[in-house]
Amino acid sequence: MKQTKNIVDQAKQEGRKALLETEAKIICSEYGIPVTRFNLAKSETEAAEQAEKIGYPIVLKIVSPDIIHKTDAGGVLVNLKNATEVANGYKKIIENIKKHKADAKIVGILVQEMAPQGTEVIVGAIKDPQFGQTIMFGLGGIFVEMLKDVNFRVAPLTPDDAKEMITKLKAFPLLNGYRNTPPSDIDALINIICSTSRLVMDVPEIKELDLNPIMAYNKGAKTVDARIILE
Ligand code: ADP
Ligand code: MG
Repeated sequence: MKQTKNIVDQAKQEGRKALLETEAKIICSEYGIPVTRFNLAKSETEAAEQAEKIGYPIVLKIVSPDIIHKTDAGGVLVNLKNATEVANGYKKIIENIKKHKADAKIVGILVQEMAPQGTEVIVGAIKDPQFGQTIMFGLGGIFVEMLKDVNFRVAPLTPDDAKEMITKLKAFPLLNGYRNTPPSDIDALINIICSTSRLVMDVPEIKELDLNPIMAYNKGAKTVDARIILE
């Protein structure tokens, strides 16, 4: 996988451990993991132009090697509805980042398609010193943070392994359709889990990977945020 190799090589050369969201999402795309459409903008005008091409609503996010948790730094704005809001949002994020960390290196701002709300799930990978690349699956938010309702399996994974990771969650009924929420596309999630397994097996330099959140829909799923940390 050519782009993946180039991105990892370049980060190594520059001594960077955390890949940028743009880099992580290009890698995900190369492995068939669906991500929100995005473009990197370097000015307000460029951001507005790209928003027009992608379509509204738009999400803007800071791209900086010095900012890992973008929301905490005031680096994420969602639901921008027109070119003026996008141009003003661009300025606002730059201001927020300067206040948060004056010397942060700013690569640009990601202009991104806003994914409709779905059922939020998380796929992770961690390189365990004993077992090697290990994949994690769970539902987003309180299910992971408070209830620790997640499943782990050592990679490489088969589609059956992935299916088990999903269906054995305590919260599985939430993915299987309830009240007026339709069932989530389990096959799409199995694909994301198996692609993640393939990716971390191919690229042993990956120490941690976090697709958080992924929006799961009745048809398909979309990764909204991707983080990759190298050893
Ligand atoms: P971070 O985790 O670094 O703070 P995220 O990229 O996860 O930044 O953005 C924070 C939150 O904003 C996400 O959890 C999600 O709720 C929302 N969000 C971010 N990007 C999008 C998008 N493209 N579409 C819809 N919601 C988004
Ligand atoms: Mg996130």
